[in-house]
This record gives sequence, structure tokens and C-alpha cells, in this order.
Amino acid sequence: MTMGEHESDSSGAPSTSGGHKQTAPVDSVREAAVEAVAPKVGTKRLCYYWTQGKCDQGWNANHTDQHAHKYPELPVRPADWRRVRPQPFDKYLILDLEGRVEILEFPVVLLDPKTLKVLDRFHRFVCPVKMSDEYITQYVKGKYGLMGIHRVWFDTAIPFTQVLDEFEVWLEGHGLWRPPTNESAQQTSGAENDGSTATSDKDQGPEAANEAASTSGKLQNAAFVTCGNWDIKTKIAEQCVSSEIGIPPYFNEWINIKDIYVNHYRRNASGMRPMLRDLQLPLWGTHHVGLDDAHNIARIMQRMLVQGARFVISGQRLQNGEIKFLFRRRAK
Ligand SMILES: [Zn+2]
Repeated sequence: MTMGEHESDSSGAPSTSGGHKQTAPVDSVREAAVEAVAPKVGTKRLCYYWTQGKCDQGWNANHTDQHAHKYPELPVRPADWRRVRPQPFDKYLILDLEGRVEILEFPVVLLDPKTLKVLDRFHRFVCPVKMSDEYITQYVKGKYGLMGIHRVWFDTAIPFTQVLDEFEVWLEGHGLWRPPTNESAQQTSGAENDGSTATSDKDQGPEAANEAASTSGKLQNAAFVTCGNWDIKTKIAEQCVSSEIGIPPYFNEWINIKDIYVNHYRRNASGMRPMLRDLQLPLWGTHHVGLDDAHNIARIMQRMLVQGARFVISGQRLQNGEIKFLFRRRAK
């Protein structure tokens, strides 16, 4: 979901045709680095069972004739990687949640800002916890039914807490996250001290303990990138209330790609599709399927990296829950 988009796409031709315009000579050198062609998985729709590691039909030709077990290519020309500026993070996690009442889909695309390559994806459909079965049916059919993929949602959706458990295993596997230690978890949450941690604090000294507390449970040399502030500022926080859990520390800062866009190009970014259009990139897949949009946002990010943008944190959730925006000039 890319909230805050006031799209007027009815006027524009679908951008999936790949009929992009010729660019000016200066720009064409730089823009060639991210080829403006639709990422393809042939003519097939991505298998959203497979993207979640849940497809057991790989042997079935009827299935694989229609559903791609292969991600879209986001081609980059190796010769142009050197134009990319150094970034403050080693890896970026492009997140694009779907679902307004509760989260229905949690897709993440992992991008290496040096090579511009997509290294991996994490994708789960998410089952609401505070809704009646009847309302869930209505809610999901109202969204994914329109795209003809509600079946896979009903077959595979799991509760948000389970999604986070699996996501954390995935993050750990990529060396992007370590679980909070007991000590730092207690310090962070202000839980009552049973005295046992005081001893170990003394061993390491208070500074070491504070350091552990300040980095524990956060991403390691990685940052989330979202299209707008809604995903992490609003929806994650709301879902954590619904799911009756605290907000995991890795959700306390993020990069709104629209703020980076506005500051880099000095023109407003009203949403994903306008940015795709401005950068002459085709829309890939189905808009508002979270995983497809995450790929589209990754595509925008690749192009921006090639054009010299730097992806620094734009929003933070402070310990008291207040939100701090770090850019003076922000996307409207
Ligand atoms: Zn499949």
C-alpha cells in the first residue's frame, strides 16, 4: 500500500507497455544503467505460493505453465554501478504493506545499494486477529478478489506475530539482525530488574550495557525503505496494538523514498506511480499486490541510486512514541 497517493492514473495510458520516451543525451548515459524495460517473468503471473515458500505444485505442468516460479528481472548494467554514491547502509529492505484495517500482506525486497541487485525477498500474507471470519472473507475478497488472487491468501495467510517470527529468522539469516539480549530487552522495556542483570552490568560496565541496549534488536547496517510514512509509522504501530505486542525495535526508523525523491530531484513525489512515470519506468505486475509494488519501489530506488541519490533515515519513532521527521523539505 502506498498511502497518500492521490493518483490520477485514469488519464495516463498503462505504463506496462514499455513505450518509454527517448531521454536527453546527458540523462541517457546515466539512465541506461537501469534499463527501462518491464521486469519479466515471461508472460506469467508470479506464483504467490512460491514467493512464500509454500508451493507444492512445482511438478505440475498445468500450474507452472501459468505461474512463474521465478522473480522478475530488474536489469542493471554492471558498467554503471560505479556511478552510485556511497550509502550509509549496506543493505536496504523495501517494505510495502497492504491492508488498511489490519495488515493483509507483508512483502520485503532486499536490495544491495552497491551492486543495485535484489538479493532476496520475504513475502507472507497476513491473517487479521481482531476480525470475525465473516468480515475477513469480505475484506480479503474486496481486495485480492479483484485481482483474482484471494485463493492464495486464504490458503496461506498467517497471523502477524508468526510473520514477524519468520521475518526475524530471515533477517538473522542475512546477518541483518540479532535478537535482543535479555539484559538489553529489560533495559529497553524498563522491565523490573530482578537483581541478576545488575551483576552482569557491573561486569561490562554501564556504558557497554547502554550500548547493547541502544543497538539491540535493531537492524544491523540496514534500513527499511517505504513509499510514504504510513507503513511503518502508522500501520505497523496499529497492527502491534491489534496483535497485542510491543513494536519491535527494528521498526523505529525508516526511509520514506518520497522524501529522498523530493530532496534529490527538487520536485514533488505524490506516489509510486507518478515516480515511476517521472523516471520513465514501467509498472511491473499488479498495482496494490504488495510484493509487486515492493519490486516497483525497488526499481525506483535503483534508478535513484544510479542518479546519485543517498538513502538516509527520514523518519524515527522516539522512545516516548513521538515521531520525528528528519528532513525539512518533505514530500506532500
Ligand atoms: Zn507455484
